[in-house]
Amino acid sequence: MKINTNENFRGLKKMIRAKKLHTVCEEARCPNIHECWAVRKTATFMILGDICTRGCRFCAVTTGMPTELDLQEPARIAESVKQMGLNHVVITAVARDDLKDGGASIFAETIRTTRKLNPLTTIEVLPSDMGGVFENLKTLMDARPDILNHNIETVRRLSDRVRSKAKYDRSLEFLRRAKELNPEIPTKSSIMVGLGETKEEILEAMDDLRANDVDILTIGQYLQPTKKHLPVEKYWHPDEFAELKEIALSKGFSHCESGPLVRSSYHADEQVNAASKV
Ligand code: SF4
Ligand code: SF4
Repeated sequence: MKINTNENFRGLKKMIRAKKLHTVCEEARCPNIHECWAVRKTATFMILGDICTRGCRFCAVTTGMPTELDLQEPARIAESVKQMGLNHVVITAVARDDLKDGGASIFAETIRTTRKLNPLTTIEVLPSDMGGVFENLKTLMDARPDILNHNIETVRRLSDRVRSKAKYDRSLEFLRRAKELNPEIPTKSSIMVGLGETKEEILEAMDDLRANDVDILTIGQYLQPTKKHLPVEKYWHPDEFAELKEIALSKGFSHCESGPLVRSSYHADEQVNAASKV
């Protein structure tokens, strides 16, 4: 990736600091930040603070004791979306296992406030499993996001090793229940490759997602954020990513982004059209 800290990049950084917001682009050290911020003028907001109660072994987000809830955060997200003129926004969050509702009410409030101020902007949310409490999922779905995204991250065999507290089957159930709660809202999930999984296991994960009615899939290469995180076991070739995309589409996903630098929110705005056809 080319490093690009042009005016767009600096302006976005300034606005995010001024509004005391967090982005997963910075916190997770996303390799696409120079493209997304400088060229595409987009970012993925991370709400509910910048400290996660989990410690997934692939993720660079800080873990520990979370900060107090910021009840003004939804309004500042809404204003930022307006200021940036976004057609599509992705909102994710740290896992807040310390909160009874897993942060669902603030998530829902963020959707409502953002929609009120930006009626034409499509809103994609990327929550944790919010403790697997489906009442929390209902709170979120009642706010009617345009896309519900929840990542399984890896194949079944590696799930316990790679993810902290999350469970492979619980994530599948979360996605299935989201679709049951509102079949009109497309669901989406993501897999990182390069953690030691086989091609057969990836295809099995695709089948599991389709069996739970997931519509959109993203597949990207895992990159080790620091030496303390899991090592990269394999760099998948771009041709292999292309093949995985073809297979995913043949299995019935309405859209699949697959490539070394693909992340859950990479080119998410382009998936809105695909989602609207679901
Ligand atoms: Fe941010 Fe997503 Fe772009 Fe990465 S791919 S820089 S997380 S918007
Ligand atoms: Fe990172 Fe895991 Fe926390 Fe999500 S739940 S922010 S992947 S540590």
